[in-house]
Amino acid sequence: MFLQIAIPKPLYNHFDYLPPPKTDISQLHPGIRLRVPFGPHTEVGVLLAIANSTTVSVDKLKPALKILDSTPVLPENCLNLLQWASRYYHHPIGEVVSTALPSALNKGLPASIQALPGWKLTPEGWALDKLPKNAHRQLAVLSLLQEYPEGLSQSAISQSLSNITPSLRTLEKKGWICPQAIVPKVNENRSVSPPLRLNAAQQKAVNEVCSNLQGFYPCLLDGVTGSGKTEVYLQIIDKVLESGRQALVLIPEINLTPQTLNRFKQRFAVPIAVLHSKLNNNERLHAWLLARDGIAPIVIGTRSAVWTPLARPGVFIVDEEHDQSYKQQDHFRYSARDIAVVRAHRAQVPILLGSATPSLESLHNANNQRYQHFVLPERAGAAVHPTFHIVDMRKQKGSLSKQLIKAIEQRLGTQQQILLFINRRGYAPVLTCYKCGWVAECQHCDARLTYHETSQQLRCHHCGDFRPVDVQCPNCRNPKLYFLGQGTERVEEHLQNQFPEARILRIDSDSTRNKYAMQKMLDRIHQGEVDILVGTQMLAKGHHFPKVTLVGVINIDGGLYGIDFRATERMAQLLLQVAGRAGRADDPGEVLIQTYHPDHPLLIRLIRQGYASFAEAALKERLQAGFPPYSRLALLRAEATESDPAMAFLNQAKKQAETLNSDGGVQLWGPVAAPMEKRGGWYRAQLLLQTEQREVLHRLLSQWLPMLSAGTNKMRWSLDVDPMDLF
Ligand code: ADP
Ligand code: ZN
Ligand code: ZN
Repeated sequence: MFLQIAIPKPLYNHFDYLPPPKTDISQLHPGIRLRVPFGPHTEVGVLLAIANSTTVSVDKLKPALKILDSTPVLPENCLNLLQWASRYYHHPIGEVVSTALPSALNKGLPASIQALPGWKLTPEGWALDKLPKNAHRQLAVLSLLQEYPEGLSQSAISQSLSNITPSLRTLEKKGWICPQAIVPKVNENRSVSPPLRLNAAQQKAVNEVCSNLQGFYPCLLDGVTGSGKTEVYLQIIDKVLESGRQALVLIPEINLTPQTLNRFKQRFAVPIAVLHSKLNNNERLHAWLLARDGIAPIVIGTRSAVWTPLARPGVFIVDEEHDQSYKQQDHFRYSARDIAVVRAHRAQVPILLGSATPSLESLHNANNQRYQHFVLPERAGAAVHPTFHIVDMRKQKGSLSKQLIKAIEQRLGTQQQILLFINRRGYAPVLTCYKCGWVAECQHCDARLTYHETSQQLRCHHCGDFRPVDVQCPNCRNPKLYFLGQGTERVEEHLQNQFPEARILRIDSDSTRNKYAMQKMLDRIHQGEVDILVGTQMLAKGHHFPKVTLVGVINIDGGLYGIDFRATERMAQLLLQVAGRAGRADDPGEVLIQTYHPDHPLLIRLIRQGYASFAEAALKERLQAGFPPYSRLALLRAEATESDPAMAFLNQAKKQAETLNSDGGVQLWGPVAAPMEKRGGWYRAQLLLQTEQREVLHRLLSQWLPMLSAGTNKMRWSLDVDPMDLF
């Protein structure tokens, strides 16, 4: 009897072991974990199958050390899914399995629900009638805990109220709350609010999905920002819960705000398992088990939550399905959206892909009737669509056009807010010498250094390296150097000069580095303490700014002529996401887009005719170029500490692929150096595989990858199936 065990090592096959001494065969089920010897150490692996033969010579096999579970941690359907994903992405099964497991289980900790640290009201806390004035956060905690007489876990409290730890400490000092270990319960007696009355478009989507709950029913919910997609999800989930089944909801990393979660909590008095990257290991295990064992009817999470086992799956929902954060960009490069579709198909339940700006892939599936297509054309409630204007920058000086300055002036002092979007942080992206043409560059990357005013440093946005600003040109000793281009800091400075009275707030990953900074800034915005917000795409997604009535896009041009074939699609999505922040409540919004290419056909089409029309034209371009969704891609990337080995490896790999591809079913492009060849000290190159027949590609990959030589610490390679970025 041989145990086939998945171990998280970058090798393609499972590993064979003998059962631990004196094992009773009835203890061995696929899906249990075992501790096994591995080199000089031990590893935790998951039993995939029990075989009666092995390809390893028997005297080399070692017995496993210990069985860690009496029942499988992963149900059979999940194991099968993981094995399918390992084959589809051609990624080692051990790493696939460890991606799917919470790290506590990868470490071998027991797979049982542990009590979580939490808080409850003390008798003094219950007896309070006078509450501290102006202590909003403490008040919020007290009233939340009143709803939970037996206490609430710390993680649940911070899900509802962010930046709450200091208030908890204060309340404990005052003796109004005390620590309490929380064991999760199945029923939560919370008060909930009733569903909204749906408009016709929402009702149609809800009805159709709800009458197809018993089988695979993939749909694209194509609704502009604020059109009530979330309400559609909530009402479908309601029906799914009635039938005793579970809902898995995926959201982009950036969107996981307490607001999102609160909308679910306000509607459903059931445990909600939440899985995202900020949980500690114990919290993550806890949420995962609640989902797996069917205790939590609703599971909400970011990318890796797509792997969470569900006892009784009833519906899958992927919100903002176009979002790039669903694709993992390193190691196991899976797409959570695509996995969700596969899961829904295997479980024979509906899946909803929701977006205001659907990916061209999903639109293509809808056009082909592979997906149902539900369109929510109008904003729900009173809000109307913003109006768009293109501003020609060719005859203007500086970064702020006359039109934008005028539009800002009109709003200052009116309680309305202004959001300016610029996709680059720092002060200026280029430091140069006009005498000799020298430009400050990173020594580890083929990239320019960005000047940051706040830290007075030159920083590389690709590898994180930084250094002081040169006092003179290192090339010709010219003491006068110039900063070119715009970053958030410089736009902030221009604005401050132009509008000395305005209250300006910059939001980018520099200004929000501190753990609670973002929440504090959002609070200030919502309390009307800010007139102008300047920010990167951190501001574009997920947030609701009801007072914003003007959105200015400082420069859209990077997206119009990007090197990647998805550049215009991303530009359009980002533009509409940013625009979607404007005029969500009663005041109509206005969007000004500054560009040096005011005649760009796709941009004009997007502005004048909307996303659907843009997408139709963009799909035609894809068809002509033979790019996805009209073909399938895989990208073999290699990188090395010197420039030659990566190319040599790919050239060799290409020769090997050609021998397997004699009928030419797969086109091989390259190898070429990556657009940014050197990055973080690594020289990068890539070989692109393109085909119209997926099976042909996968057959080639299965035969080809085992032929490739293993990486070394000076040269490594990886395969990306369905890549999002071609660099
Ligand atoms: P989306 O998810 O498409 O951005 P939301 O579901 O967040 O849209 O809805 C936007 C706003 O409209 C929310 O404040 C929501 O409460 C409200 N809303 C949604 N559906 C309706 C409806 N049928 N009637 C009234 N208001 C609605
Ligand atoms: Zn010079
Ligand atoms: Zn660098």
